[in-house]
Amino acid sequence: MSQRRDSILREMGLAPLWRVRGPADLNEGTGAAELAPPQNAPPAPPAVAPASSALPRPLRSVLPVVASQEPEPMPPARLPATSSGIGELDWDALEARIRGCEACGLCRRRKQAVPGVGDREADWLFVGEGPGAEEDERGEPFVGQAGRLLDNMLASIGLKRGEDVYIGNAVKCRPPHNRTPDTAELAACFPYLQRQIELVRPRLIVALGRPAAQALLNQEIRIGAARGKLFSYGSIPVVVTYHPAYLLRNLPDKAKAWEDLCFARHTMQRLKAEDVTPRST
Ligand code: URA
Repeated sequence: MSQRRDSILREMGLAPLWRVRGPADLNEGTGAAELAPPQNAPPAPPAVAPASSALPRPLRSVLPVVASQEPEPMPPARLPATSSGIGELDWDALEARIRGCEACGLCRRRKQAVPGVGDREADWLFVGEGPGAEEDERGEPFVGQAGRLLDNMLASIGLKRGEDVYIGNAVKCRPPHNRTPDTAELAACFPYLQRQIELVRPRLIVALGRPAAQALLNQEIRIGAARGKLFSYGSIPVVVTYHPAYLLRNLPDKAKAWEDLCFARHTMQRLKAEDVTPRST
């Protein structure tokens, strides 16, 4: 195992739990070992509910989708992106609109809005909750302590910020004192996330924490119960896991987050093998 990977695992409080055992270890340092599902990775999820008929056929045939939600308005305040013109914006116009947004009270105390960062054609989309103090200062998501953990989580499955990864948030402005954004704030901001998803067209979305999961899936979510299941946003599979800030406070749950990331990576491998992508459906 490379020193870099060792230090990442230590940082996450996971060494030696995250060590990939068996033959995959022989690929040390190449990234291949990191990408192979570890022996203790969770089994493929059971198909506990039929896939939605709204899903394209390839996705239904390849993946057991346990819950499906169309990207429809969340009552009471969520508006479809199209109704506010956001659905027609290109990247530059979208980011400009986000930076000048006054759709909810969060705009009053922000230093700046934080649209998102990364590869605009990424296969992976990670969605957090909302900017914290450092993000508010710097205008980039996940640049504080939770962001460093997120970077290590990405590295642990062979990913890197900006390389086939786009990172955004459910709300684009910092909630005062880093409180959880409320339903109205999530709803007001949702058209921006919706448009980002339309533009990126990721193969897979990873929802980091409850607010992100609820905003995307438009339903009550408990992370503990939702882990290991495959949800969907329209035709795009969604995996749910703990928010990095939560993991910093609840170290034992990092092992569960590792399982979730393995599940996400495994799902991505299957999607790629079947070429299940919003681009091909
Ligand atoms: N937490 C989030 O959810 N998003 C950020 O950008 C930073 C911390």
